[in-house]
Amino acid sequence: MVDRIDGHTILIGLMAYPIRHSMSPTMHNTSFVKLGLNYAYLAFEVGNKELPDAIQSIRSLGMRGSNISMPNKQKVIPLLDKLDPVAKMVGAVNTIVNDDGVLTGYTTDGTGFMKSLADENLDIRGEKMTISGAGGAGTAIEIQAANDGVKEMSIFNIKDATWANAERNVKIINEQTDCKAQLFDLADQDAFKREIADSAIYCDSTGVGMKPLEDKTLVSDPSFFHKDMIVYDTVYAPRTTKLMTVAEEAGVNHVFNGLGMMLEQGAEAFKLWTGEDMPVDYIRNILF
Ligand code: NAD
Repeated sequence: MVDRIDGHTILIGLMAYPIRHSMSPTMHNTSFVKLGLNYAYLAFEVGNKELPDAIQSIRSLGMRGSNISMPNKQKVIPLLDKLDPVAKMVGAVNTIVNDDGVLTGYTTDGTGFMKSLADENLDIRGEKMTISGAGGAGTAIEIQAANDGVKEMSIFNIKDATWANAERNVKIINEQTDCKAQLFDLADQDAFKREIADSAIYCDSTGVGMKPLEDKTLVSDPSFFHKDMIVYDTVYAPRTTKLMTVAEEAGVNHVFNGLGMMLEQGAEAFKLWTGEDMPVDYIRNILF
C-alpha cells in the first residue's frame, strides 16, 4: 500500500449505504496492483442526503469516477451531466465516469450479466428468456438482454411496489427494441411453468434464496426445467441457492449463481475508468 499510493494516485469511489460489506474495493484494488495502475478505489457511506455533495466532490477532487449503489442508483441521475442511452432506458446508474468535470452515468449490471454468459460460451441472442423480478437487478438484465437481441421475454413479478416497474420495462422493451416482452403475475403458476418450459434461459432476479430467504425458491418443482436450458440466480451468497439445487436435480446443464455477473459488472466499470481490461480470471481465482 505504502509503495503504491503516491501524489499521482487517482481516486475512484463507491457511494452507497450500507456498503462496508462490499467486495468491490478488494476486486478493483487487487486489479490495479496486478496491472500496475496508479488508482485507488474506496467505499464511502453515502445516502440520499449526502449524495449531492458527494457527487460534486467527484468534480472538485478530480476523481476518475465512482460506483453507485443502493439507495442512490436512481437519485443520482439528475446530478449528472450526461447519461448513457441504456442507463436512461434502465432508469438507474451504477457507474459514473468523470471526463474533465463532465460526469456521465452508465449501468453495467446488465452488460455484466450478458458478459458472464459469454464467458461460459453461452449466447442467448435470438432466444426466449423468462425472468422473475423487475427491481434494480431485474430491470438492468431485462433492458440489456432486449437491447442485445433476446427475441422474446416473459417477466414475472408479484403485485408489490415493483409491479409498475415491470410494466414500464415491458413498455420500453416493446417500444424501443426488437424484443417482444410480456408481463405475468407470479401467482399464475401455470403460466410460469409454461413460459419457463418454452425458454432457453430462466433468470431469478428477486433475491429469494438469499438471507433471510435462503431456504426458499420460486421454483421448487424440478419438472419446470429442461436439461438444455440455462438457470441463472443473481444471488451469490450462498454460492449454491435452493433454486440452483432444484435445477441441478432436474439435470439442467448450465446452472449459475450471481458471481459471474458481479465480477463482470465490475470489469465493465473498470474498463470505463481505466481503458484497461480487468484481469477477471485472476480475480475470479483469488477472490471467489
Ligand atoms: P429490488 O428490491 O430492487 O427488487 C427485488 C425484486 O424481487 C422485485 O421485483 C420484487 O417484486 C421481487 N421480490 C421480492 N421479494 C419477493 C418474493 N418473496 N417473491 C417473489 N418476488 C419477490 O432488489 P435488486 O437490487 O434488484 O436485487 C435483487 C437480487 O439481485 C438480490 O439478491 C441482489 O443480491 C441480487 N443482485 C445481484 C447482482 C450481481 O451482480 N450478481 C447485482 C445486483 C443485485
